Amino acid sequence: MEFQPLKEGTCYYFEGPVNIGYLRNGEEGMLIDAGIDASTMKKVLKWLKQEELPLTHLFITHAHSDHYGGANYLQSRQGVHTAAPVLEAAILQYPILEPLYLFGGNDPLPELRNKFLEGAPIQIDQMIDEGFCQIGSFAIEAILLPGHSYHQLGLLYQEIFYAGDSYFGEKQLEKHGIPYLTDTQLAMDSLHKLKGITCQGAVPGHGTYEENFQSTVQSNFDYHEQLLEWLEEEIGKKPDGMSHEDVIASMCANYHVRASQLSQWLLFRTAVTAYLTALLKQNRITSEIKDYRWFFKVLR
Ligand SMILES: [Zn+2]
Repeated sequence: MEFQPLKEGTCYYFEGPVNIGYLRNGEEGMLIDAGIDASTMKKVLKWLKQEELPLTHLFITHAHSDHYGGANYLQSRQGVHTAAPVLEAAILQYPILEPLYLFGGNDPLPELRNKFLEGAPIQIDQMIDEGFCQIGSFAIEAILLPGHSYHQLGLLYQEIFYAGDSYFGEKQLEKHGIPYLTDTQLAMDSLHKLKGITCQGAVPGHGTYEENFQSTVQSNFDYHEQLLEWLEEEIGKKPDGMSHEDVIASMCANYHVRASQLSQWLLFRTAVTAYLTALLKQNRITSEIKDYRWFFKVLR
């Protein structure tokens, strides 16, 4: 993890597999996200102490454990005013909700309650929704960017945009094969919204800070469109339609994703379904329940 200045004296980030933002304003300091676990947070705290940088506030962009897993440790070590988006806050306070929703509403099996799907619960002091807000002395604009998570908020501060997982670095996009989304249509609408943001530069949750982040945003958009086109064509090859289960298997095989464990497979089931619901919303396919199975068909 490397501490990178973005705007001297005010905006920084810890660059790593999951980026962590840091804002400074006089005696106050705020982390944006908290890394996946206690050991990540220990490194962050050690660095801030060494550099004599204050830590008084924490903001979590969305309730995925790789972004909040280190927050419980932080809260156990020191008082830190914690803010989070509405709805995401519910999951942060009751993190079992993630394995629960991924498991289709059933009580999650013990193997699903791992650190990748469920972090330790945290206390939320302030719930944030879209718009201008004040977190301590930080005057911030929160921008609603759903599609990857239900109520993800990106933060704009001093012309630096902390984007959460609203877009991925190009390398990360290729690595994922099928990026995790809850609703591809909303994710693409959010990408469109990102293009309208004027700022000095942006840092995604996974990837690097770029001044010209708009071209990476466009690559994300093109990537999703390419997956939608592949999926529409694949379903079109079956005149009688394709079951949900078969769509998941075909798409995972085609993009060579690793899903040998139930927890991984459930994440891809949600991601593939996000592309299916986008095709449904765009009226490119229809769906019906046939013989107790969910079937998809291309409109002709
Ligand atoms: Zn995420």
